[in-house]
Amino acid sequence: MFDGGTRPVPVTELKGVGTALALKLERLGIETVQDLLLHLPLRYQDRTRVLPIGSLRPGDEGVLEGHIVASDIVQGRRRSLLCRLQDGTGTITLRFFHFSAAQKNSLAAGKRVRCFGEARPGPAGLELVHPEYRVIAEDAPAVVEACLTPVYPLTEGLTQGRIRALVDQALGWLDKGIVEDLLPETLRVQWKLPELRQSIRYLHQPPVDADQARLLEGRHPAQRRLAFEELLAHHLSLLKIRHSVREQGAPVLKATGHLSLPFLEQLPFELTGAQRRVAREVARDLNMPVPMLRLVQGDVGSGKTVVAALAALQALENGAQAAVMAPTEILAEQHFNNFSQWLEPLGVNVAWLAGKVKGKQRARELERIANGEAQLVVGTHALFQDEVRFANLAVVVIDEQHRFGVHQRLSLREKGRNGSQTPHQLIMTATPIPRTLTMSAYADLDCSIIDELPPGRTPVNTVVIADSRRDEVIERVRGACREGRQAYWVCTLIEESEALQCQAAEVTAEALREALPELRIGLVHGRLKAAEKADIMARFKAAELDLLVATTVIEVGVDVPNASLMIIENPERLGLAQLHQLRGRVGRGSVESFCVLMYHAPLSQQGRERLAVMRESTDGFRIAEKDLELRGPGEVLGTRQTGMMQFRIADLQRDSDLLPRVKRAAGEIEQAPALMEALIARWLGQGADYAHV
Ligand code: ADP
Ligand code: MG
Repeated sequence: MFDGGTRPVPVTELKGVGTALALKLERLGIETVQDLLLHLPLRYQDRTRVLPIGSLRPGDEGVLEGHIVASDIVQGRRRSLLCRLQDGTGTITLRFFHFSAAQKNSLAAGKRVRCFGEARPGPAGLELVHPEYRVIAEDAPAVVEACLTPVYPLTEGLTQGRIRALVDQALGWLDKGIVEDLLPETLRVQWKLPELRQSIRYLHQPPVDADQARLLEGRHPAQRRLAFEELLAHHLSLLKIRHSVREQGAPVLKATGHLSLPFLEQLPFELTGAQRRVAREVARDLNMPVPMLRLVQGDVGSGKTVVAALAALQALENGAQAAVMAPTEILAEQHFNNFSQWLEPLGVNVAWLAGKVKGKQRARELERIANGEAQLVVGTHALFQDEVRFANLAVVVIDEQHRFGVHQRLSLREKGRNGSQTPHQLIMTATPIPRTLTMSAYADLDCSIIDELPPGRTPVNTVVIADSRRDEVIERVRGACREGRQAYWVCTLIEESEALQCQAAEVTAEALREALPELRIGLVHGRLKAAEKADIMARFKAAELDLLVATTVIEVGVDVPNASLMIIENPERLGLAQLHQLRGRVGRGSVESFCVLMYHAPLSQQGRERLAVMRESTDGFRIAEKDLELRGPGEVLGTRQTGMMQFRIADLQRDSDLLPRVKRAAGEIEQAPALMEALIARWLGQGADYAHV
């Protein structure tokens, strides 16, 4: 009857489920009976025994049974029906604000009642407000449920009773075998994972003695079994994308060195060991007939740009084109300037394409890109609009990847396609990403890490100060600038709207100009025209400005080695990764640098902890781990990244210890395409195919 036990059974095959109910279930992400079985309870109630009323403490929840000894309508602030229920060990009040005459009559003195609710303190001892109740016969058989009662996440128009009944039906289908255990027996035995069907049944109907505390935390072996499988399915979906890309084939690029060697020669520095190692990993990938899919991670200032340039040059050495994309115009322009300076002396043609490149200039750049005259193209996401045609694109570099979502990353891959071949791709993150997240969010990529900073950097000293000491901080800026240094003043403001943020930055700049009349002060924020922004940045870089007041637009990439002091206002409002990124703007020269985190009191406990991490560490990897621990994966990866990281059961933080095993299991299952498809379909649905976004 079932083809291998994995055929999805629509919920409408359950008794009593019509279109209306099916729509409600769909709001909970439940379309099939299998989905329903994986819709797990939030918590449980214990209805397996009757509690003695005399033993109840506030907050206790359970079944009570006794006689009504008094029943009155009381006219307090709100009219209510109060019934006194007694069981020989004590008395408790049942309180109803809404009740019918029939209800009042049925709850008359002398009646025997069984009810369920939570005991709360009331004006005259403990009470149950609107308990579930039933009037029972004197000789009614003893209670009750054989196992714990599940409490499910609901949606409007769906009651607990209704969904419990549906799950009961679904468990009948479970016995008929509609959910097959797909994990290879060997792995299940090796890692002592409980059997799938048994786990599902356990979680819907835990026995009386189940460890409820553990269930509530989501750490019960039955839950871990499902979380493991869900993480595995997500991992496999990324591997599937990887396979489909790698099937496409890519141009084999030989490292001839005729451009890269002179390039390295003319750099004013030697590559670090880490840069050399990563560059070698990239060069090896480019020399293969399958598209490179590589993520380069490195702390701020670790020198990722040089590695990108070497990758691009390897394309050029083979007569092909390379594209470098950055998330903002400021950063793209900076790359354009760097690459032009580095590569034009070698006779390389560099083109520039951003949203602001318009009219004739744009037409000319498009023409140069299309006919192959432009060998290297630098730009923003404007690079991947339909009108852009490359003559022979072989390498794509995406910088500061976390600003782009996973889906964007994947669609770029498609756009860069050239006939049957796909360009090699190098993705660079702005800040380090904790290993567990790399393993889950970037499973489709190989990973290289630049784990060494160029020599001669002095670590930034970070101080945490309340904004009540603003005057001292201003004096500090004065002192630094008097010594010929430059400083940043970063406004991270409370206002939601960008307009208000910019306005507030203007106010701050005005106040600083008044307090520091001898300094040349510039202001950049998101509402300035790109040309104005670029002009101010250029003047700061040329030391024509002493102090740069900025919103967080300066976050990425800006490189001014003479700037050795950074003030960050309200740092408590930013993620640690973002703070680290900002702080990376200083400490690029040889003088000692400072970062002042000027918070607004009072700080929460977590706020204090987070700023302390910044003070104590300058290691981006450690900071990212801490951010993950304190704020969760959404904060670390950025909200756009997490779109696809919605788990039903798994929790990346709680279950991170499962990831190494998930990775190993994925490696095995990858060899069995049908199994892989079945797992992906079970957890991500039939339509889930990130390869075609
Ligand atoms: P990030 O990894 O943050 O993108 P960049 O590539 O912008 O870092 O490099 C930061 C600065 O360090 C730049 O000024 C760059 O020229 C310089 N740099 C890169 N590699 C080295 C090196 N091996 N030795 C000295 N300076 C280097
Ligand atoms: Mg960079």
